[in-house]
Amino acid sequence: MIAKVIVDVPSRATDRPFDYKIPQQLQGWVEVGSRVGVPFGGRVLQGFVVGIADQADVDVMKLKPIAELLDHIPPLSPDLVELASWISDKYCCTMTAALQVMIPAALKGKADSVVTLVEEELENSLIGEEAWLQYIRQNSGSMRMAALQERFPDDAAAIKAAVKEGLLSEQVTIRDRLSVRKVLTVFPPDNEALALEALHNYPARAAKQQEVLRYMLEHKEPVAMTALVEALSTTSSTVRAVADKGLLEIREMEQNRDPYAGRNFKRTEPLPLTEGQQAVYEEIAESLDAEQSRVFLLHGVTGSGKTEVYLQTIERSLQHERQAIVLVPEISLTPQMVERFKGRFGDLVAVLHSRLSNGERYDEWRKIREGRAKVAVGARSAIFAPFDRIGLIIIDEEHESSYKQEETPKYHARDVAVRRARQHGAAVVLGSATPSLESFAAASRIVSAGSESTGAAAARAAGGAALLPMPSRVGGRPMPKVHLIDMRDELKNGNRSMFSRQLHEALLDRLERGEQSVLLLNRRGYSTFVMCRSCGYTAQCPHCDISLTYHQKSRVLRCHYCGHAEQAPEKCPSCESEHIRFFGTGTQRVEEELAKLFPGIRVIRMDVDTTTEKGSHEKWLTMFGERKADVLLGTQMVAKGLDFPYVTLVGVIAADTSLHLPDFRAAEKTFQLLTQVAGRAGRHELPGEVVVQTYNPEHYAIVSAQHHDYAAFVQEELKHRRFMGYPPFCRLIVVTLSDEQLPLLITTGEKLASALRQLAYESGIKGSMDSDGTRFIDILGPVASPIPRMKDRYRFQCMVKYRGNVNANELLKQAISMLPGPQGQPPVQISVDVDPQMIL
Ligand code: ADP
Ligand code: ZN
Ligand code: ZN
Repeated sequence: MIAKVIVDVPSRATDRPFDYKIPQQLQGWVEVGSRVGVPFGGRVLQGFVVGIADQADVDVMKLKPIAELLDHIPPLSPDLVELASWISDKYCCTMTAALQVMIPAALKGKADSVVTLVEEELENSLIGEEAWLQYIRQNSGSMRMAALQERFPDDAAAIKAAVKEGLLSEQVTIRDRLSVRKVLTVFPPDNEALALEALHNYPARAAKQQEVLRYMLEHKEPVAMTALVEALSTTSSTVRAVADKGLLEIREMEQNRDPYAGRNFKRTEPLPLTEGQQAVYEEIAESLDAEQSRVFLLHGVTGSGKTEVYLQTIERSLQHERQAIVLVPEISLTPQMVERFKGRFGDLVAVLHSRLSNGERYDEWRKIREGRAKVAVGARSAIFAPFDRIGLIIIDEEHESSYKQEETPKYHARDVAVRRARQHGAAVVLGSATPSLESFAAASRIVSAGSESTGAAAARAAGGAALLPMPSRVGGRPMPKVHLIDMRDELKNGNRSMFSRQLHEALLDRLERGEQSVLLLNRRGYSTFVMCRSCGYTAQCPHCDISLTYHQKSRVLRCHYCGHAEQAPEKCPSCESEHIRFFGTGTQRVEEELAKLFPGIRVIRMDVDTTTEKGSHEKWLTMFGERKADVLLGTQMVAKGLDFPYVTLVGVIAADTSLHLPDFRAAEKTFQLLTQVAGRAGRHELPGEVVVQTYNPEHYAIVSAQHHDYAAFVQEELKHRRFMGYPPFCRLIVVTLSDEQLPLLITTGEKLASALRQLAYESGIKGSMDSDGTRFIDILGPVASPIPRMKDRYRFQCMVKYRGNVNANELLKQAISMLPGPQGQPPVQISVDVDPQMIL
C-alpha cells in the first residue's frame, strides 16, 4: 500500500503529495488524515496523509517507507483533508498551510533525534573513551541528541563522526510541542494494614516521612506531588523516600486542562420563544430535520434574542445526533457568552479561543475529536472542529472582519463554513444586526446571478441563502433613542472638552441614579504617536513607513509591524525643540478627563493595554457586571455582545474617525460599530439612551445608525459600491509583492500584471470595468502598497477586480509561475489575499 503525503515544507515548489510505502506493521493504522514522519531530503519531517493507493506513480521499489505514525487516531478526517484542498485552491495557499491551520498548535511536531551507543562498534572506532561516551552509557546507552549537544557543546565534531561511523545509531522521531498533560501524583498505600504498622514503627529521625504517610492514610485519595509537598511543607525527596519503602506509589497521571474547571454554570431551560423567534426557529428546524445544507441569514436587531434561537436550534440538531459549531468573534467570546452555552448544554460544550494556553486548547480539541463534546463554541478556527457529523454551523455577528484570517492561509471562516456544511449536509445560520453587504446581497439577491460576491456563490450552490428577519426586540422593548451631537457646534459655543454638554449631563444623570454607562472611543482616530509642536516632526519606524506608537508605561516608542522599539526622545530630534508631545492611548486621555470632570467616578478602562494579561478581559467585565464601576470605557472591545441590565447610557466619543479611512468598507464599518454599541443600552427593564458625538452629522452611515435603519444604509451604500465597482458588485484579489530591492520589485510587479492581462485576454475575458458582458476582469497596478515599506522590505500591490464566471485564482497561479526565478520560485516574495477584508 502507498500513502500520498503532503510534507511539511513551507514552499510552493514542494507542495504536492509524495508517495511513501506503508510498512507492514502500520497497514490498517495509516489513514487519510494521519500525521506521519517521513524521510525527506535527508531529514525526517512531519506530513499528512492525503490519499491511499495500491499503486504508486513511480517505481515502488524506489519508494521509502513511512518512518513513523504520530497519532493512533488521525488528527484530521477525510472531509477536513478535502476541505484543505478547497482552501488551498480558493485562497491560493499551499496545501501544507491549509492542513496546519486545522490542527491545534500543540500538535505541530518537531523532529527529534535519539542516539544509541552501539558498543560492538567501539573497537573499530577511532573514538576513544570520551566523557560524552561515558555519559551516554550512564543514561542506559541511549539519549536525546539535543540533550547531548547541550551537555557537550565542544564535542560536536566527534559526536557527528560517531554517528557517521555507526558508533552511535540515530533514530529520528517527531515530537509534539506538547502532549497530554501528566501530573506527578502520589497514591495512598495499597495495603493499609501494612502501612499502618509501618506508621507506628517509623524511626524517630524520619518524622517528616512519617507525617507524609499519615497524611496519605488519612486522605485516601491520590494527590498531586506539588500539592502534597506544599501542604506538609516538605520536599519531594521525603515523599519519594516513603515510596521507596513500598508504602506509597508515585505515578504520572493524565490530566485534562479544563479552562472552565471549578466554575459552575447555572443550568438554563429553553425559554418560550417570541413570535419572531418562533417563525425563524421553524424555518431552520425544517432544514435540520431534512438534513439539508442550507444557508440562512438571520437579520435580527440588537436585543431581538438571536442567542435563544441559536440555543434551541442546536438542541434540535443534537436530537438528530448531530453536532454543532458556533463561531463568535474573538472579542465577544466573553464568559457571559460561554455561560449561555455551558448553561444550556453543560459539559457537552467545548470552548476554543486564542486566550487558552496551547495545552488547554489541545484538551478541548480532544474532547471534540473523542466525541465527549457535541457543541464547539469558538473563534474563527473553531470552524475546523474535528466533528464527524455536523448538523448546524452558527456564525454570530457574521459581518465581523475577524472571521477573515489576515495571515496565510487567508481564509474567511464564513465561506469555509458554507463549504464544510455542504460536506455534512448541515445548515448554516449567519446572525447579525448589521449583516455584511456581501451576505445581505447574497440572501436578498440584490446582485444578479453571474456576479457573485464572497460567500454568495457557495451559498447559492448550497441551495440559496434565505433571509430570516427579526425586526423587533424581545418583549417589545423599544430601540434606544440616539442623539447626534454636532461637535462643530460645541466648539463654536466654546466647549473645547472632549465631552459635549449633552453627554456630560447624561453621564452626571447616570451617576446620580446609580446606573451604568458604556463609553466607546473609536480607536483609530486617537492614535498614540509622537509629534513635535514646533516643526511637525513625527517619529517614524526606521524599517517601515509607519508612525511609531507611544507606550506610556514604559516610555518606549514601538513599531506595530516589525517590533522595532526605541526610547522616547526628550527633545525633538529634528529641531531640538522641547515641545515634543507624547499622546498616550486615546482611552487613557478620556480616563483622565473623566476623573477631572466627575470626581470620584469609578471607571474601568478596556483597551489593548489593559487586556493583555490572561483573564483580564473577563475580570473587567465581571467587575462591571457586579456594578463595581460606573463607566466601562473602551475601544471596539466594549461594543460587542455585552448584556448588562443597568447600562442605560452609551456614549460614542468620536463616531467618524473610522469614516474617512481609505477603505471601501469604511462607511459599513462605522455603521456597524455604531449600531452594535447603541445596542448595548436598555436591553432590559430600564430604557436606554445613546449619545453619538460626530463632525459629520449628515453622513448616511451615521444618520442610518441613528434611526436603526439598516435598509436605508444598505440602499445608499450599494449605490456607492456599484458606482465605484466594489464588492458585492465584483470580487477582489490583492497581490502584494515585497523585496529589499526596489528595482527588482517594480519590474517583477509589472511582469506579473502584464502576464495576468495577457492570460485574461487569451481566455477571452473582457478587460474593462464598464463592459456590458456578464464577466470582466480588471488588473490594477502595480502601485506602492498603503504601507510602502515594512521590515526593510518595499511593498507593491496589484489589485484584481473580477466578476462573473472568471477563474481568477487559476489565472493568478499561472501568472506567478511564469515569473522567472530560482528553482521555480518567484524572484520576490508574493502574498495573495483573496476577498480581502482590509484594503488598508
Ligand atoms: P441579540 O443577540 O439578538 O442582541 P440576545 O440573544 O442577547 O439578543 O437577547 C436579548 C435579551 O432577551 C437577553 O437578555 C435574553 O435573555 C432575552 N430573551 C431572549 N429570548 C427571550 C424569550 N424568548 N423570552 C424572554 N426573554 C428572552
Ligand atoms: Zn521639532
Ligand atoms: Zn517597523
